[in-house]
Amino acid sequence: MKKLLLFLLCVCYSTSYAQIKSPAEFLGYQVGTKVTPHWKILTYFDHIASQFPNQVKSEDYGTSVEGRPMRVYYISSAANISRLEEIRTNNLRLAHAIDGNAQGTTPAIIWMSNNVHGNETSSAEAAMMTLYELVNPANAKAKGWLEKSLVIIDPSLNPDGTDRYANFHNGVIGKNYNPDLYAREHREPWPGGRYNHYYFDLNRDWAWQTQAESTQRAVIYNKWLPHIHVDFHEQGINSPYYFPPAAEPFHEVITPWQREFQTTIGKHNAQYFDSKGWLYFTKERFDLFYPSYGDTYPLYSGAIGMTYEKAGNGSAGLGVYLDNRDTLTLVDRAIQHHASGLNVVDVVSAHADKVVEEFKKFANDAVAGKLSSYHTYVIKYDSNNEGRIRALMNLMDKNKINYYSATGGIKGLDYFSKKEQSYNLTENDLVIPGSQAKAALIRVLFEPDAKLTDSVTYDITAWSLPYVYGVPAIASQNKLTNLKAYQLPNVNNTLSAGFGYAIKWNGFSAAQLTAALLKNKVKIKSSEQSFKIANEEFPKGSILIMKNANQAVNLEKILKEQADRLQVKVYNLSSGIVEGGKDLGSSDVKTLKAPKVMMFAGEGLRATNVGEVWHYFDEQLDYPIALVNPADFSRVKWNEIDVLVMSNGSYPFLRDKAQSAAFASWLNAGGKVIALESAVGQLASQEWSNLKTLKQDSAGQSKSSPLKKYGDRERESLKEYTAGAIYKVTFDQSHPLMFGIKDYFTLKQDANLYQYLDDSKGWNIGYIGENAKMSGFVGNTLAKKLKNGLLFAEQKVGQGTVIYLTDNVLFRNFWENGKVIMANAVFLTAD
Ligand SMILES: [Zn+2]
Repeated sequence: MKKLLLFLLCVCYSTSYAQIKSPAEFLGYQVGTKVTPHWKILTYFDHIASQFPNQVKSEDYGTSVEGRPMRVYYISSAANISRLEEIRTNNLRLAHAIDGNAQGTTPAIIWMSNNVHGNETSSAEAAMMTLYELVNPANAKAKGWLEKSLVIIDPSLNPDGTDRYANFHNGVIGKNYNPDLYAREHREPWPGGRYNHYYFDLNRDWAWQTQAESTQRAVIYNKWLPHIHVDFHEQGINSPYYFPPAAEPFHEVITPWQREFQTTIGKHNAQYFDSKGWLYFTKERFDLFYPSYGDTYPLYSGAIGMTYEKAGNGSAGLGVYLDNRDTLTLVDRAIQHHASGLNVVDVVSAHADKVVEEFKKFANDAVAGKLSSYHTYVIKYDSNNEGRIRALMNLMDKNKINYYSATGGIKGLDYFSKKEQSYNLTENDLVIPGSQAKAALIRVLFEPDAKLTDSVTYDITAWSLPYVYGVPAIASQNKLTNLKAYQLPNVNNTLSAGFGYAIKWNGFSAAQLTAALLKNKVKIKSSEQSFKIANEEFPKGSILIMKNANQAVNLEKILKEQADRLQVKVYNLSSGIVEGGKDLGSSDVKTLKAPKVMMFAGEGLRATNVGEVWHYFDEQLDYPIALVNPADFSRVKWNEIDVLVMSNGSYPFLRDKAQSAAFASWLNAGGKVIALESAVGQLASQEWSNLKTLKQDSAGQSKSSPLKKYGDRERESLKEYTAGAIYKVTFDQSHPLMFGIKDYFTLKQDANLYQYLDDSKGWNIGYIGENAKMSGFVGNTLAKKLKNGLLFAEQKVGQGTVIYLTDNVLFRNFWENGKVIMANAVFLTAD
């Protein structure tokens, strides 16, 4: 019997051996000599999975926005694959993500992410080679590695971007590639394959998960919590190769072991690269601070998170001349990423026990409070902040952060006043203990002001959530013990026929409901004054829906369905008489129109900023917006457009005599413009604009010494620089642009501020005063200039109006409180 079994095994083994195809055999071309579309990459992975069912398993974890499958592959020894679920559960126990004690051994879990930027082609191509080598029966080393390691490969984190690039490239390439950088195969059309469907950079979205790809990936990522995460990228064509250890700044929470093992992995890779004579650099450019990258997010979840960057990207094609006249080919790009991938598996397998041990220690330290800078964070409940709190809960759920309710007193740092404060907890306050499995991530997301070990960073330096959400909060050194499950009551509205209904304007969910009602042709009004009915206070902007005006629609059905879905409370009104404020028939209560909104989207505009507005309207507000090519300016039926949103980017029509005149006449006739970031400056240069750039006097500026050193030039330039810091905005609470907002903090990413408008020329709505910086890095010289300047304004132009928003209120669509400002700008201003 035993012999028969052995014989059968041999037959099976040799059969599968005979059928294994290398990527080149399967694809019909050497990897790197064509750009492989997404479906074909998955087909190769599936082919290997079908040939090695005991060693390779796949799992569908989602669908891209455009409907492409998202799939990971588990590759390990047959013994490990047979107990895959046990390994996973064990590992979550080690991580304290679930209860119970881990049983048996845990292999090192290595997760390889490819193509998060869709036009950085080589990593997905390399992944096919890596998969093949890992299961290739002729590769004895790989067999040894997989006894110690479980490798999880995601061939493409961004299938839509991968295919956008592949379709472009394969459509323009001839029989042979052209290495001239100016040839069209190196010139991707707008918006390029880097981004997902909504032009989001998915490698800035790991923590926020505003995009479908990120949300679905986070679910499976948190189901596994790998020990090693490799994020493969490509950089500029003339930079050879980057691998860890990373550059400063490192966030303080990154442990000595995480630093040390990055170096171990880097040294191992360096040896291999040296043996091949390949150039590389380490410890430069790619730092570890902003939490939403494919290296930092895993690091803050206990893994060794790493970025690898090969020369390449959308301009590289199949082969391109470099500055030194060498040719960079996709073949070589793929070979180097493939080599790095195998090197990671090699070195991690050699240290597998230690890797697992240290992962366990990280998790033990997390729950013991050793990774926390504060023991407790408290978000203060206020019914006017309920929408914001629900949104914050949603973000925490996505990141597996636990929150509770507690009672008693607490002392700590108040985020808004930056002063120590004693506070008595109420039932609906949100309590987030610093000691839990996700302690490191919590610290990074909530810490009022994270320390930078170095000010040269790749991204924004502040994102502390109470500022982003505009919710009052305390960071405390007190530990709370009487924690209870947190729950906000489920909103299940009972609508009783009477005079009408009212909705408080208290956050983005009220705006979402407004959008839904307008789309359903419900007639609604908004009150510019706060009022009180039946002992209930309604803030400025609150929505009123009269029964009488809505005979034509099935009001109660629509209202209940939409309000329940959005968890917005609807108040029944039995009369139009108010106890405080103006009656509902007052002229301060205005009818809201369903505006027709448009924006330009295309060449000249910053794709990510267009994407923020597009995704905001399409997915978040769920309200139609027409996207128009800038070249089609004269095709637009302007008389049908109510609102034009101008996102960050360049607007040549403003410099064209005929088109700018046509635009001005539309505006004068009653159009509304909502201008963001650089669009503000371009509008300010129009004849009709009253806005003027603020020039701070030079007295405050530090003079640079004539004897400054060449070697200090990077540091010197930082004095004028901010990558993104948080400032408090002082604002006019009576202006509709700020309705529903009590505290607003802006992300200041540049030096732009404007002079206050004379009172006859418009409304100064929001400005930065003195000492307004709350969090983040701002260079010395720039810090002196960032004060007493205008940020948000409204100007009337004839019958029309322009809303100037100097900063990005929709930053990466996670700047929660800014979403309310955009909704106000669209629905409530200038009627
Ligand atoms: Zn990249």
